Amino acid sequence: MSGRVLVFDTTLRDGEQSPGCSMHGVEKVRLARQLERLGVDVIEAGFPAASVGERESVRAVAQEVACTVAALCRTREEDIRAAAKALHGAARPRIHTFIATSDLHLAHKLKMPREEALRQAVAAVRFAQTFFPEVEFSAEDASRSDYGFLRDVVAAVHEAGASVVNIPDTVGYALPDEYGEIFAKLSRDVPGVTLSAHCHDDLGLANANSLAAVRNGARQVEVTVNGVGERAGNTSLEEFVMTLRVRGESLGLSTGVRTEEIATASHLLSSITGIWPQPNKAVVGRNAFAHEAGIHQHGMLANPLTYEIMTPASVGAGDSSLVLGKHSGRHAVESRLKALGVVLKKDEVEELTARVKELADRKKYVWDEDLLALVACVPDTHVRLVRYQTLSGNQLLPMATVEIEVDGEKRSASAGGNGPLDAALKACDAALGLDVELLELTTRAVTGGKDALAEVVVRVRHGGNEAAGHAASTDSIDASLKSYLSAVSAARAAVLEAAA
Ligand SMILES: [Zn+2]
Repeated sequence: MSGRVLVFDTTLRDGEQSPGCSMHGVEKVRLARQLERLGVDVIEAGFPAASVGERESVRAVAQEVACTVAALCRTREEDIRAAAKALHGAARPRIHTFIATSDLHLAHKLKMPREEALRQAVAAVRFAQTFFPEVEFSAEDASRSDYGFLRDVVAAVHEAGASVVNIPDTVGYALPDEYGEIFAKLSRDVPGVTLSAHCHDDLGLANANSLAAVRNGARQVEVTVNGVGERAGNTSLEEFVMTLRVRGESLGLSTGVRTEEIATASHLLSSITGIWPQPNKAVVGRNAFAHEAGIHQHGMLANPLTYEIMTPASVGAGDSSLVLGKHSGRHAVESRLKALGVVLKKDEVEELTARVKELADRKKYVWDEDLLALVACVPDTHVRLVRYQTLSGNQLLPMATVEIEVDGEKRSASAGGNGPLDAALKACDAALGLDVELLELTTRAVTGGKDALAEVVVRVRHGGNEAAGHAASTDSIDASLKSYLSAVSAARAAVLEAAA
């Protein structure tokens, strides 16, 4: 068997649906540029019917990249229209419509008989084709659907014009041999259609299932960077792509991905969302290439092939480079950003250069990681920290005073707490006068060293809206407060938007 497998990246859609992974339009565009450098064949940019913001970000991605851009929609006409509108002007637009085909979903979620689902699937593909020639159809919960019915649906939507038909293991339930068998049968029963695999990692089988699919005829695989996605996530792009690269000879299959761009893509996604892969994560984890045991180190020195099946360089992982100091100018920042796959507008580069210089005053070396953290943490302009002061010690009652600016109006308050951070957050609440629930606050040192930047991600709930904030500073309380205020600002904006 031989063949080229298309890589369909859904980091911006399925990946974005994972808790804490939501991205703004600008961030989606930034990641889309790196996905294009990575060489994925299709970027699924979002679900335009979900919200105005989602529509806008799909449109922004569609305008930006030259590869195929897909937008997801249900079989409803208004959903398909929203997808078509968002994709307008894209170099290679693809409408991706779906409906569930398992009896479980049909009876309990959609409350419709099989015939109706089949009718809607065909009608949706036909309607989508009136906008663009390229249409993909997904049979949601395909792996738990009756095979005869699934085959009828695949044949009917292919006949109606869907060139790609996706057979998702929506709930991560399939075993590799079962999943592979569905593809073997469909390749035989519905010739001519490009079959696609979409797996979830609920049982840790997503990559194994995706491989089973391509070994049985699938020629598109849907993946996400770092394996982010609903629940336990999707098939991870780096695992799937590197399996085909390392074991290409046995598999007779390849992708068009430039694997040297993998580390940058992984890093960029993490710095945008604030969620980092676990250290032992295959291919992109911090320890993926670390050899600890003495015997291994000895073997590696004698010949790397003893314990290394792929080199760090093949996935673009290596020593982080020293970026800049306080004397570095805009051009130095710009060229480093370019190497990292980040393209910013001129005024953004200037603003970032100022922040790099400010950071270089407090921290000796500014590394790539620091630069990415600064890029990811755009200061909020509506709710802003002006200054804070804390008094704490193990024999003192911790106290904090904060001064903030809300839409240009200065406010200050003081509070006590069980520690300096608790006191500072309580003082923020008193100054804000809003009812905010703190859901999560995580701190990470961006690099090694005592003077490292602290990157803080905060999730809050306010007025029924959940929002995340993200900030970095060499002072962890400063970063926490900025991150908290930026999350509050985003939640407050959602409340104001809903009221308008
Ligand atoms: Zn999915």
